[in-house]
Amino acid sequence: MNESTRLLIHGASGRMGQALMRLAGERDDLRVVAAAARRAPGDLPAGAQSITAASLDAAPDFDVAIDFSLPEAFDPVLDLCVRRGVPLVSGTTGLSDAQRAALDAAAKTIAVVWAANFSLGVAVLGDLVERAARALAHWDCDIVESHHVHKKDAPSGTALALGARAEAGGATPRYASLRAGDIVGEHTVQFATAGERVELIHRATNRDIFARGALHVARRLHARAPGAYRVADLLD
Ligand code: NAD
Repeated sequence: MNESTRLLIHGASGRMGQALMRLAGERDDLRVVAAAARRAPGDLPAGAQSITAASLDAAPDFDVAIDFSLPEAFDPVLDLCVRRGVPLVSGTTGLSDAQRAALDAAAKTIAVVWAANFSLGVAVLGDLVERAARALAHWDCDIVESHHVHKKDAPSGTALALGARAEAGGATPRYASLRAGDIVGEHTVQFATAGERVELIHRATNRDIFARGALHVARRLHARAPGAYRVADLLD
């Protein structure tokens, strides 16, 4: 595809939104045309229109929406994408079961990607966790996650996704969450039995990894057929 992909960034004033807009500006194939947040975000890329949550319908035409906001902000952006027939990439964690069901329903008419974590390292960690769970049957499995003090949901979406992989391998994971300082994100999956312990750890030191992953996926989603895609489907 030659033409650039026009993006709407939802949650534009947040930590992730800011990283997305900065990194999109480094790519020739992406263009931020709209930036939405609870209050109209300032300091936008050239040519981007600032919109508030209350005026999402005023967004100019875009090819893909990228949403890193909060669960209470999610329904309107999903609804906008369905009504306009454009793909949605979302990394918002803490969605309810009803919101996940709405995302699945939307995938019948638009292309969607939702991921708790857009980093390649965590994708590999998930494979390792499932393999370890299968090999270490009956060991205790504990998932400990640490994030900055502003993070609202706990356990993190990534911890729950890793837990699902552990369950797929036959383990029964328990969760513990720490909220401290400015930690970008750390996940430890521990398998323990009498006399020994295995720890699998991922540490994110810079949230640019998540933003880069989401931008990569957004470009791949431009003009895709409807469906629920995984990050792994769009890596090439
Ligand atoms: P943040 O608190 O810094 O930013 C939240 C953004 O959402 C702000 O722009 C805010 O204006 C907007 N917002 C809040 N309420 C809104 C509303 N009602 N309508 C419209 N916009 C609203 O948060 P953050 O650190 O940027 O994280 C955002 C989300 O992304 C969280 O759910 C976080 O867990 C998730 N996250 C996911 C990944 C991943 O790889 N999937 C990585 C990092 C963070």
